[in-house]
Amino acid sequence: MPTRNNSTSTAPSDTAERERRNNVRPDGWHNPVPAARYSLVVIGAGTAGLVAAHAAAALGAKVALIERHLLGGDCLNVGCVPSKAIIRTSRLYAEMRHATQYGAQIPGDIRVDFPAVMQRMRSIRARISRADSVRRLTAAGVDVFFGAARFAGTEALTVDGTTLRFKKAMIATGSHPDTPSIPGLVEAGYLTNENVFNLTELPRRLLVIGGGPLGCELAQAFSRFGSKTIIAQSWPLFLPREERDAAQILSDAFARDGIEVRLNTRTVNVRVEGGQKLVDLVSDDHKSTVAVDAILTGTGRVPNVEGLNLEAAGVHYDADDGIRVNDFLQTSNRRIYAAGDVCLEHKFTHTADASARIVVRNALFLGRQRLSALTIPWCTYTDPEIAHVGLYVRQAHNKDISVKTFTIPMHDVDRAIADGEEAGFVKIHVKEGTDRILGATIVARHAGEMINEVTLAMVAGIGLRTLARVIHAYPTQGEAIKKAADAYNLTRLTSLVKKLMHRWLVWTR
Ligand SMILES: Cc1cc2nc3c(=O)[nH]c(=O)nc-3n(C[C@H](O)[C@H](O)[C@H](O)COP(=O)(O)OP(=O)(O)OC[C@H]3O[C@@H](n4cnc5c(N)ncnc54)[C@H](O)[C@@H]3O)c2cc1C
Repeated sequence: MPTRNNSTSTAPSDTAERERRNNVRPDGWHNPVPAARYSLVVIGAGTAGLVAAHAAAALGAKVALIERHLLGGDCLNVGCVPSKAIIRTSRLYAEMRHATQYGAQIPGDIRVDFPAVMQRMRSIRARISRADSVRRLTAAGVDVFFGAARFAGTEALTVDGTTLRFKKAMIATGSHPDTPSIPGLVEAGYLTNENVFNLTELPRRLLVIGGGPLGCELAQAFSRFGSKTIIAQSWPLFLPREERDAAQILSDAFARDGIEVRLNTRTVNVRVEGGQKLVDLVSDDHKSTVAVDAILTGTGRVPNVEGLNLEAAGVHYDADDGIRVNDFLQTSNRRIYAAGDVCLEHKFTHTADASARIVVRNALFLGRQRLSALTIPWCTYTDPEIAHVGLYVRQAHNKDISVKTFTIPMHDVDRAIADGEEAGFVKIHVKEGTDRILGATIVARHAGEMINEVTLAMVAGIGLRTLARVIHAYPTQGEAIKKAADAYNLTRLTSLVKKLMHRWLVWTR
């Protein structure tokens, strides 16, 4: 059993950090005297917990929210917010290096100011932390308790020696990074999302283990800051869940960025020699050793189920898959629900948010909202971005659904050409013989923004035929979606229709 990375590193204590701390874990905080019984007790104040607590309190419920570390959870503190902040700066550096392609000159050498990059990230994180602050929660009427929650039965739990009784409870304890079982890794020291954003110096040479979203996003960002970056992935392609052509475009983009890509590669041993980390890699039975200054792991997430005493509450769980829930997000104890990373396959902030809303309706208002009814998009924020919603072709085939796909390469889209952002495509799958959208993959600089239009269409039951009637502002990259819809419309022009139209035009000439 690998040990968790217990790095105690913290971000430098500057004004931004003090503001964030004051918002998400104020010094000198005293837990309130608990109510006799709460309508809803929420464990974990990440996205899922905060959304549920605010929504339930706004609807008049008596709510307690318990957090053992920092309000805002992973997304604010060590996830989406800091990663997207540094990715933005890394894009700027990449663009500056290619300034001549845009008809611009950068006088002198481009020098990366890594401390300034991280300082910008910290000030953005501090600003966004205001929305997750203890002040906002208490103003909304939520009782906030800091400490680790532990069930003391089917209707009660304890935090910091105090017992809270509940009518309903929601477990939203999130997940933590998986530590790959690699001999020597723990002893050598390594980075995860929990400490990488505390770095004050750029690692000169970086090995990223894992080619999922986190590994890909951060490998590209650090490479663009100037770290000599190697990414090692045990699978034959990055982002194994995505369509192969999407992942291939990403591999090409990495190569252009100068990242050393090692696919089909296992990391088998780490040792420290002369102040550097020597890492043994095995690719297709070929063994090699690389010397690096830092190792970042991004090999998956493990749900936070430890220490909750779930047995006492009669809540069934699995160490790998987390809390077991039904389609209504109810656990094996009908009073207790779960939301977010601790129980969901799709571990994203927007799914944590959406699942928390389902819990509030189902737990407090006799709702029957189903998790399976959600249409969930996602995006990996590399350059280009890779976004997806709905079914992949292989999933449709597994369900015996025939699929027709309309693909528009971004190099056919005027705005993408003008912006010099031509890598990628929009691919929309419909059910054969209909215009019903089953799913879409978008690879484009702004794929995360573009996928929302397709998601809206799917949720509202709008088919490609209607999307073809939507006027898209010119020139925008979103026009690629309209072009895919136009391509669908062309397929409706059967030879009979074409013949009839031709005759009509001849007759009316
Ligand atoms: C580097 C990185 C980048 C990411 N980028 C994106 C992105 O761009 N877009 C996106 O959608 N998603 C992204 N994610 C995923 C996203 O951060 C998570 O899906 C989201 O934070 C899950 O929210 P949650 O509320 O379920 O859990 P969390 O945010 O993990 O919150 C759970 C909270 O519960 C607390 N807790 C745990 N146990 C207890 C206990 N016993 N008692 C009290 N409190 C407890 C924890 O301290 C934590 O604060 C990213 C993740 C990482 C790591």
